[in-house]
Amino acid sequence: MSKFIPLSIPNFEGNERKYVDDAIDQGWVSTGGAYITKLEKEMANFLHIDNVAACQSGTSALHLSLVEAGVKPGDVVLVPPLTFIAAVNPVKYQFATPVFIDCDDSFCMDPVKLREFCEEECVFDGNTLKYDGKTVKAIIVVHVFGNMVDMVSVLDIAKKYSLKVIEDATEALGTKYTEGPLAGKYAGTIGDFGCFSFNGNKIITTGGGGAVTANKSEVVDHIRYLSTQAKNDPHYYIHNEVGYNYRMTNLQAALGVAQMEELPEFIRRKQTNYDLYCKLFDGFELGKMICFREGTSSNKWFYSLEINRDKEKATMREIITALEKRGVQTRAIWGLINEQVPYQGEVAYKMERAPYYATRILNFPSSTQITKEEIEYVAEQIKDVLGGFCVD
Ligand SMILES: *Cc1c(COP(=O)(O)O)cnc(C)c1O
Repeated sequence: MSKFIPLSIPNFEGNERKYVDDAIDQGWVSTGGAYITKLEKEMANFLHIDNVAACQSGTSALHLSLVEAGVKPGDVVLVPPLTFIAAVNPVKYQFATPVFIDCDDSFCMDPVKLREFCEEECVFDGNTLKYDGKTVKAIIVVHVFGNMVDMVSVLDIAKKYSLKVIEDATEALGTKYTEGPLAGKYAGTIGDFGCFSFNGNKIITTGGGGAVTANKSEVVDHIRYLSTQAKNDPHYYIHNEVGYNYRMTNLQAALGVAQMEELPEFIRRKQTNYDLYCKLFDGFELGKMICFREGTSSNKWFYSLEINRDKEKATMREIITALEKRGVQTRAIWGLINEQVPYQGEVAYKMERAPYYATRILNFPSSTQITKEEIEYVAEQIKDVLGGFCVD
């Protein structure tokens, strides 16, 4: 096969060109324009909430959430180690201290260890949770690869210790609970804040872009105000706070409105393709498909194969390079954030599952345009390459 099957590429089968042309024709290309408010409305409708602020990236959405949550220099924020580093960097923008809490088998934060950390390592006076003399302000949880965090447990812990919950739902637009006390609730609409990303590899894209929501509509309004340089008056330049240039542009939003129209179809395809991969890898000894949480409907944004390290000795680099030669783009899961240079001095609590999965997870092609034949080809090549490296 001379064809190259990419990991995850954008899909512009809908009205993208039409709306972008329209935005250009109108001359509204920057941080004002009807597509921005339209995208905000469409997202709010889709998520069954009443207010969303569109911004420039998932990272800026996370940063604005931390600002709004009142995270100040010296505060502690509890964060995950096994995810994209953008989920944690905004903690440093605020000169706060991240403490890494291990993940569970969903790759999301382990609520058991989260509770143990609060109970055993911190002091709670009924108002404020303190760790090492510092105030623990917030928890950032990431819905990794579209898999829902155990939000029932996280909310319970957050309530007990008065912590703000920031959901990084950048990979999980469309993931929702179908059972239990949160049935019907979407990832990103459960905690105090929810952050979304429309980067090129996410389930919908605006090139670069993001959105943020909060459990109080006034808070979303204030975030929108901060994202536009905190301008207080429509005519005069009056600014009562330090703002940011974090607003989405109308050009990006034009793409976003078209992508929102296709989102349900994209989710359907991701789910169907995931099921097909599961069938193809069923009974495969050297790798096992990672499941999504029960009682939820996941957007199944990204697929993961857990490599059997008892039998498979090849490094991830060797596996990825061999597959690339066969036209299949794959990648290893992220390196642990607590091991990256800027984070090496930070506390990492009871790390066990995160380091385990860091050397075992292979991600493989999951674009919405992928065909059945391509999926079969990908699975066959992965099996063959892993089989070739297998020792025993
Ligand atoms: C993509 C991503 C982000 C950042 O989003 P950008 O739009 O690229 O800034 C943050 N967290 C996670 C988990 C992501 O996957």
